[in-house]
Amino acid sequence: MRSKALLILLFLVVSCENRINPGLPSPPANVDLMDSFYYEINLNDRSNNTFKVRMYVNNLSETNSVFQFAATAPGIYTIADFGRYVSDFRALDMNYNELTVSHPSTNQWKISNPDRARVIEFEMSDTFHHPQSAHNIFANAMGSWIDSDFVLLNPVAVLGYPTGLAERDFYLKIDLPPGWNTGTSLPMTESGYYFASDYSQLADGPLLLGNLTTASALVDGTQFNVFAHSVTGKVDAEQVVSYSLQGWQDASKFLKVLPVKNYNYLYVWNEDISEDALEHSSSSVHMEPENGNSGLKARSLHEFFHIITPKTIHSEVIGNFNFGVPTPSEHLWWYEGVTVWAANTMRYRNGTINLNEWLQGIVSSGGQMSLLNVGLNCYNDGATISDAYHRGSMIAALLDIRLLELSGGTKGLRELILDLFEKYHDKPFPEDSFFEVLTEMTYPEIGDFLNRYVKGTENLPIQEYFNKLGIFYGLQRRQDNPTPEQQKLFDRWSINF
Ligand SMILES: [Zn+2]
Repeated sequence: MRSKALLILLFLVVSCENRINPGLPSPPANVDLMDSFYYEINLNDRSNNTFKVRMYVNNLSETNSVFQFAATAPGIYTIADFGRYVSDFRALDMNYNELTVSHPSTNQWKISNPDRARVIEFEMSDTFHHPQSAHNIFANAMGSWIDSDFVLLNPVAVLGYPTGLAERDFYLKIDLPPGWNTGTSLPMTESGYYFASDYSQLADGPLLLGNLTTASALVDGTQFNVFAHSVTGKVDAEQVVSYSLQGWQDASKFLKVLPVKNYNYLYVWNEDISEDALEHSSSSVHMEPENGNSGLKARSLHEFFHIITPKTIHSEVIGNFNFGVPTPSEHLWWYEGVTVWAANTMRYRNGTINLNEWLQGIVSSGGQMSLLNVGLNCYNDGATISDAYHRGSMIAALLDIRLLELSGGTKGLRELILDLFEKYHDKPFPEDSFFEVLTEMTYPEIGDFLNRYVKGTENLPIQEYFNKLGIFYGLQRRQDNPTPEQQKLFDRWSINF
C-alpha cells in the first residue's frame, strides 16, 4: 500500500509540471480535458477564509464563454447568488497569459477567446464569514465554512461551470493539511480525485474535512456514517449515532426497504449557530447549536426522508435543476410538507413516540393560501416558505386519513408514497399534471381534496378528519371515547401494514 501511494505521489509531482512551460502548474495527464473539467483546491492555504481555486479546462467555444456560479441550489428554495463571494476571477491561456474577462452579472464572468482558455483561477470566500451572509440561517448547511481545524465545502457554494457544459465530467483534487479526514458521498478515483459525472452530481456531494470524529452503524443492510466536527469538542459522532439509531430503524420499517446502501451525515456543532440542515441524495449537512439538541432526531430523519422526495419523487423542474436561473416548482408542499409528516409518522408507527408527541409534530399555521403559489413564489423577494412545511404537513396528515377511509384501511399516504417511489424512481413526475397522477393512482375524491386544500385556499377540515379516528384536535389533543368504527380506522392509521 505504501509503495503504491509513493508512486502516485511521484506521478503527481511529475505531472504537475507544465509540459510546455516547465515551472508552471499543469493538469494531470490522466484526465481528458476535452470532455471533462479538473478542479484543484489546496486547503493548506486557508488565509482570509477563502478557497483558492484552480480549474483546468479545454475545448471551450464561444457558446461556453460565460462562466456560471450557482444562483440557487436544490432544496434551499431561496436565492443564494454564490457569485457574490467570488474575487480575483482570472482566465489564462496555456502559457498563463491572462485573457480578458468581464463580469456581466452577479453569478457570471465572460471570457474572451474561450477557445484559448486552459486555466481558470478565482478565490471564493466562505459564506460563513462573509459579511453578506454571516450567520444567516440559509448560509450554513448549503454554504461553506473555513476554519482553523475544519472546512465545510459544498461544491455548489464554491465551484462553477462554463455555460452549456454542466454535463461534462468533473474531477476535484483537494490537498489536505496533515491529519485531516474527510466525510463525503462523492466517489474517489484511483488517482485520488473526487469524481462527478456532471455539475448536478458535484453539487450533490458536500464534503466535511478536518478534525472530525466518525462513527457508523449498520441498519437492515444500510451503512450509516456520521462525520462530526464539534468546535468545543462537546459532541462526537458516537453520540450522534446513539441518538439517531432508533430513527433509522423507524425509517426502515416505514419504507420497507431503505433506499440507499450508504448514507453520510455531516455534522458541524458550534455554540453560536442556528440549527439548519440540507438534504442530498446520499448525505446531508447538519448545523447544530452545541447548547441544545431539541428537534435533533426529527431533523436527522427529515433529511434522510428527502431521499424519497424530492431527491427521487420530483417533477422535471427539480430533476433538470437550473443552477443559473432559479426556477420554482409548485409542488414544494409535497417535497417539504409530506417530509415533515413522514418523519413524524414513521416514529409514531414504530412506537418511538406516542400519539401526543405525534400530534405536537403536525401543526398547521392556519393561514389561508394556495400552497401551489407558495411554491411558485419561493424565489421572490420577501417570500416565506414555512407554510409549505406547516399547512403542507397538515394536508399530508389529512390526505392520509382520507385515503385510509376511502380504501377501507388498506391504503394510506405511506402506501401511495411507496407506489410513487416505484413509479418515478427513474423519471420525474409531470409538474403540470401531478394532481391528475395522484388522482389516477387513488380515488376521484382525492382530486377534489387537492383542488380545495392544496391549490385552493379553503380552511382545512382538521377536526372533521381527526374525528374519523376518534381524535379530538383542539388545544388539548387526545383520543376521546372512540366508537368501534373510529377505533378500527385508528388502529389501521397507527401501524405500518
Ligand atoms: Zn426539508
